[in-house]
Amino acid sequence: MNGIIIGAGIAGLSTAIALKLKGIEVDIYEASAELKVVGAGILVPPNAMAVLAHYGLADEVKSYGKEIDALRVSSFRGEPISITPSTFVNNRTQFKTVALHRGKLQEILLRNVSEERIHLGYQYSRVESTNEGLQVSFANNQQRIADFMIGADGLRSKVRQFVMPDSALRNGQQVCWRGVANIQLPESSNAQLTELWGDGTRFGFVPIGPDQVYWYATASSKRNYYFESDRAADSLRKLFSSYITCVDNIIDSTPQDLIIEGNMYDIKPLKHWFSNRVVLLGDAAHAITPNLGQGGALAIEDSYAIAEKLEHFSDPATAFLEFQQARQTRVDRVSKASWKIGQITNWRSPLLCSARNQILSKVAPMMANSQSDWLYNFEISKHSNN
Ligand SMILES: Cc1cc2nc3c(=O)[nH]c(=O)nc-3n(C[C@H](O)[C@H](O)[C@H](O)COP(=O)(O)OP(=O)(O)OC[C@H]3O[C@@H](n4cnc5c(N)ncnc54)[C@H](O)[C@@H]3O)c2cc1C
Repeated sequence: MNGIIIGAGIAGLSTAIALKLKGIEVDIYEASAELKVVGAGILVPPNAMAVLAHYGLADEVKSYGKEIDALRVSSFRGEPISITPSTFVNNRTQFKTVALHRGKLQEILLRNVSEERIHLGYQYSRVESTNEGLQVSFANNQQRIADFMIGADGLRSKVRQFVMPDSALRNGQQVCWRGVANIQLPESSNAQLTELWGDGTRFGFVPIGPDQVYWYATASSKRNYYFESDRAADSLRKLFSSYITCVDNIIDSTPQDLIIEGNMYDIKPLKHWFSNRVVLLGDAAHAITPNLGQGGALAIEDSYAIAEKLEHFSDPATAFLEFQQARQTRVDRVSKASWKIGQITNWRSPLLCSARNQILSKVAPMMANSQSDWLYNFEISKHSNN
C-alpha cells in the first residue's frame, strides 16, 4: 500500500516510525521548508513512554531529559495543595514522566524516519478520489497519487476541512507562555514538576537538564493584564509579582526572545475522524488544551493504534473505522479532563480560588490514584490486533 502522511510533527513522525516497524513505508509531506527546533520543553507521560519503549526509543528519550519523581501543586505563596509521587503511576506502568526539550524529542523521532521519505516545502492543499487512487495536491503545484492519506497537520489542520468541514476551534480563554531558563533549581525542586496556582494564573516549572528548566505560565484571558511581546520578561514579572520569588528568578534566567506566547485552543470532539481513505490523527483529529500535558502523548498513542489497524485490515477505510472506534472514547475523556482543569485554573476570584485549593488538597490523593489508572496506563497489548 502506498500511503501519504501530511505533517511532520509528533503525530506524523511517530506514525511513520510505527508503520515502518510494520513494514509499511510512507512518505511524509511537510509544509515547512525546514524542520526547525520549535517550542520549549515537553512532558512525555508514562502512557507515551510505553509506546516509545515499544519503538525502542524510551532510553534515548530518558537520556536527553529528566525523569520526574513527583508532581507538586502549591498556591502562588507556596502553601502545599497536593503532591503526587510518580510511584503512584510507576507501580502500574513501569514508566515515569520524562521532561525534555521539545526539539530533542523531535530530533529523536526524525532520526528514526528514513530521510528520503520526508518531503519539505509541500503544503497540502487538496485531495480528490480518482480511478487510480487519491490524488493529493500541494501548494507548490506538485501532485501525488496514494492509496491512503493520514492528516497529521495539527490544530489548524487543512485535511480536517476535508474530513469534517464544519469543525471549529474552541477558545480556552487562556493565554500561555513558555520558555527554557538557564538556571539550576535547588535540590528540593529537582526531579519534580512544580505548579503554582494563583487567581486566574498558573506557573509551572520542571528541570530538563542539569542547568535548564522548562517553564510555562497561563493566565485567564479575561484577567486584566498588559503584555508587551518585546518586553515579555517585564510583563511576566509584573503578572506573577505576587508569586514566590523563584518564579522571578526563572523568568530572569530565560532568553527573552525565546519566550513563546499563544492562546489556548482545542477542537470540540469530532464525530468522524476519517472519510473513506483519508484519516486524521494527533491534533488534527483531537487537539486538546495543554493542561494535562497529554496532546503529544495521545498523538504517540494514535501512531501505535493506526499502525496496528493498517497492518491488520487491507482496506484503509475499514482500518480507519477500527482506529477511530479504538481511540475515540479515551481521547474524548482526556480532552474533557484537560478542558476542565483549564477552566478551574482560570478562576479569578481569590475567595473561590482559596476554596478550590483547600478542597483539592483533600481530594487530590484520591484523584491522583484513579487518574494514574486511566490516564497514564496505556497497555500496548490491549491495542494490538495480534
Ligand atoms: C503550550 C503547550 C504545551 C504543551 N505541552 C505538552 C506536553 O507537555 N506534553 C504533551 O504530550 N503535549 C503537549 N502539548 C500538546 C502537543 O504540543 C501537541 O498535541 C502535539 O504537538 C501535536 O502534534 P501533531 O503532530 O498532531 O501536530 P503539530 O505538532 O502541530 O504538527 C503538525 C505539522 O503539520 C505541518 N502542517 C500544517 N499544515 C500543513 C499542510 N497544509 N501541509 C503540510 N504540512 C502541514 C506543520 O508544519 C507541523 O509540522 C502542548 C501544547 C501546547 C500548546
